Amino acid sequence: MAYLQLQGIEKFFGEHRAIKGIDLSIEQGEFVVFVGPSGCGKSTLLRLIAGLEHIDGGTLRLDGRDITHLPSSQRDLAMVFQSYALYPHMSVYENMSFALKLAKVDPKVIREKVDRAAKILNLTAFLDRTPKALSGGQRQRVAIGRAIVRAPKVFLFDEPLSNLDAALRGQTRVEIAKLHRDLGATTIYVTHDQVEAMTLADRIVVLRDGLIEQVGTPLELYDQPANQFVAQFIGSPQMNVVEGKHVPGVPGVPAGGFLGLRPEDVTLQPAAQAASGGLPGTVELVESLGAETLIYVKADSGAQLVARQATRSALRNGDRVGIFVEATNAHRFDAQGRAARAG
Ligand code: ATP
Repeated sequence: MAYLQLQGIEKFFGEHRAIKGIDLSIEQGEFVVFVGPSGCGKSTLLRLIAGLEHIDGGTLRLDGRDITHLPSSQRDLAMVFQSYALYPHMSVYENMSFALKLAKVDPKVIREKVDRAAKILNLTAFLDRTPKALSGGQRQRVAIGRAIVRAPKVFLFDEPLSNLDAALRGQTRVEIAKLHRDLGATTIYVTHDQVEAMTLADRIVVLRDGLIEQVGTPLELYDQPANQFVAQFIGSPQMNVVEGKHVPGVPGVPAGGFLGLRPEDVTLQPAAQAASGGLPGTVELVESLGAETLIYVKADSGAQLVARQATRSALRNGDRVGIFVEATNAHRFDAQGRAARAG
């Protein structure tokens, strides 16, 4: 049996059915990320697992035990929020040790646990400071440290990095990945940032409107999205999805269906040099990002596409080009947006 098992989990807010029957099994030590657009229910689902919201339907089991209606404090889970919720008048040490002190743990054991967590999180030099004398990234690490010292069965993270600036977000993301590697703790992590999802997750759960759209490893979702929604949610810039009839020559697109092309599977050649067989089009925008170039083109057929190349480009806005697509990597969707098989 799975370590954490969700069966038919439901949540209503008044008449609104925010979580519509979620089935999910999470194994011990797994790092699972919930992603989805704003309002899809990912925070609510996490809060139901944490015991911060009442579960209206279904069953939740942790390590074989039914915890569906167990109070949060007895669930053996630790949650780290976006707002760090540290006690402002307490030192870092006191913040990190507070829960253990409440539980009347031996002060010597508390000292050992806090020192160890501080070492892992590079906080040893800051143990005597109060939160206001710390940077945002350091505060977030204290919040994580507070969870670590409790040695919970499951760590729950709700958008822990969203208050940090881009550089610090990247850095802290790497720290969380290392932490998971070192502690091996079962972790559920909510984010709307698909880069965080792709880089941290063993498995990603894509949610939409209170339901699971797809569960899989990051590359399974990238390479074999079950539908157009997942295809366009995972990957940045998002997958090009165009009406099949606008890009002729790719076999297997269902009648009235859509063709999906990752930006790296679209290449452009200046019209004058283009080999035959390319789709004629015009460059609308070139974004030079240094390591890669994104080129937005409009095909004469009406298809709007973005191409990604790992080299610099001499193309300019308004240039005429031939558009070539890597048909072997193409995705096909039926008129309802479900993935269709080639052939
Ligand atoms: P975001 O990325 O914007 O945080 P989310 O995916 O985490 O979104 P939730 O916060 O879980 O979404 O909300 C899911 C749905 O439930 C939304 O439609 C939201 O308006 C509704 N909802 C959440 N909390 C409550 C509440 N306490 N009362 C009423 N409706 C709520």
